[in-house]
Amino acid sequence: MAQQEDVFKKLVAHCKEYGFVFPSSEIYDGLGAVYDYGQNGVELKNNIKRYWWDSMVLLHENVVGIDAAIFMHPTTWKASGHVDAFNDPLIDNKDSKKRYRADVLIEDLLAKYDDKIEKEVEKAAKRFGESFDAALYRQTNPRVQEHQAKRDEIHARFVKALNDSDLAELKQIIVDYEVVCPISGTKNWTDVRQFNLMFSTEMGSTADGAMKIYLRPETAQGIFVNYLNVQKTGRMKIPFGIAQIGKAFRNEIVARQFIFRMREFEQMEMQFFVRPGTEMEWFKKWKETRLKWHKALGLGDHKYRFHDHDKLAHYANAATDIEFEMPFGFKEVEGIHSRTDFDLSSHEKYSGKSIKYFDPELNESYTPYVIETSIGVDRTFLSIMAASYTEEQLENGESRVVLKLPAVLAPIKLAVMPLVKKDGLPEKAREIMNSLKFDFKCQYDEKDSIGKRYRRQDAIGTPFCVTVDHDSLTDNTVTIRYRDTMQQERVPVEKLHEIIGQKVSMKELFKKIVE
Ligand code: ATP
Repeated sequence: MAQQEDVFKKLVAHCKEYGFVFPSSEIYDGLGAVYDYGQNGVELKNNIKRYWWDSMVLLHENVVGIDAAIFMHPTTWKASGHVDAFNDPLIDNKDSKKRYRADVLIEDLLAKYDDKIEKEVEKAAKRFGESFDAALYRQTNPRVQEHQAKRDEIHARFVKALNDSDLAELKQIIVDYEVVCPISGTKNWTDVRQFNLMFSTEMGSTADGAMKIYLRPETAQGIFVNYLNVQKTGRMKIPFGIAQIGKAFRNEIVARQFIFRMREFEQMEMQFFVRPGTEMEWFKKWKETRLKWHKALGLGDHKYRFHDHDKLAHYANAATDIEFEMPFGFKEVEGIHSRTDFDLSSHEKYSGKSIKYFDPELNESYTPYVIETSIGVDRTFLSIMAASYTEEQLENGESRVVLKLPAVLAPIKLAVMPLVKKDGLPEKAREIMNSLKFDFKCQYDEKDSIGKRYRRQDAIGTPFCVTVDHDSLTDNTVTIRYRDTMQQERVPVEKLHEIIGQKVSMKELFKKIVE
């Protein structure tokens, strides 16, 4: 674990040093849980967004996009339930004065028991060698059984407390299982209280009678309130989806873990409207489609898992998360929810306007049911960075840090480098770059030794480096060097487009999703 934390620290430092992510307003010592994306970060982020957007609106003829405003009429948030129920249970440690989410403390406690069980199993596997039967061991070993029973007991109490919104019981669990504050090491806790996560501001001048409005805590509501506009103007037939990418804001209690939990972040959400009664079928289908989207990136299939929700929101009849193995454990990157007709019905009630769909096949009107896929851009960014960050020991005794980003998402696709800054090599390099820059984001670099230039490109994940030397002037060939293998190959300049194009094509990813 300590080693993992170490890797995470290095990753955060790397993100800053190489222009991926900076703390917000850093010259004033930053702003808690708010971050800015730098010159390389923004390219990676835009590529992630493009990958998601096109996978929705290009691959599905019945999915269209919108871009709604961040400010919405305040009644929206009354109807959605956010004003009354968008709360987290918080608890303070009286000694360290640190604030925590009570549910997160208990989830961490459960994870500790899971860890203990896994360690027992791993130890036994080493002891018994090949004949080891892990499943049998889990069922019969007294120590594993003891941990499992404890875990089940805590889990059952936790789920019940959440479902009953029983704040006193949440605290009691923390007390009973002697959860300590990681900072002070004490068990001196306050009571658990609810805290609303929405930011608010005022619109209009006070003389006009200013209106309290909220910064949206999710993009979904912009889709719901535009459902009829899109359905009518786009002549959409159910089933169909509306996709959107945009900023969301939450006054998170615990602002840790870098861009994993931010107060201003970006979501990519898609609401898919279906006939009531068919929602489970669509829920299953979108779960599969979304997992394929993640896996197509090639970061390792074993790094993803589904996690079904212990507590369903009052409007949901099924919900699961796609979790990714971050340096700090498996964590939610995307939520997939079956939201029934809760949102549309509620907006119908609060607005007094009919939001129904006339289904010509059934010859009846109904309020559509909704399957939602909701993924955070920043968490996806973090998962990709974490899986790509690699420290390598080389045969010649040197080491290198290389970001093995999926080539298609890399901020810079190729670097073009003249071997020396004279003899017409820079001109030749520029000529090559000019012929490729319309299709690929290129970077020109002539400073320092070739070795140093390679390292710089490795550190930002550039999949190809093209070196121009004296021979290039006569035979029109260059050396292409591949990031991951560091292998070099002599190729004619006119082949570059094809070689690079093949590796950075989104089409290849899309084929994996639709197959
Ligand atoms: P968590 O339980 O981690 O707070 P959530 O269940 O509240 O997350 P959702 O409301 O389902 O999250 O939001 C959908 C997605 O938006 C999440 O899967 C995540 O990727 C992203 N997201 C939510 N909150 C944040 C945040 N504070 N910072 C960054 N991304 C976020």
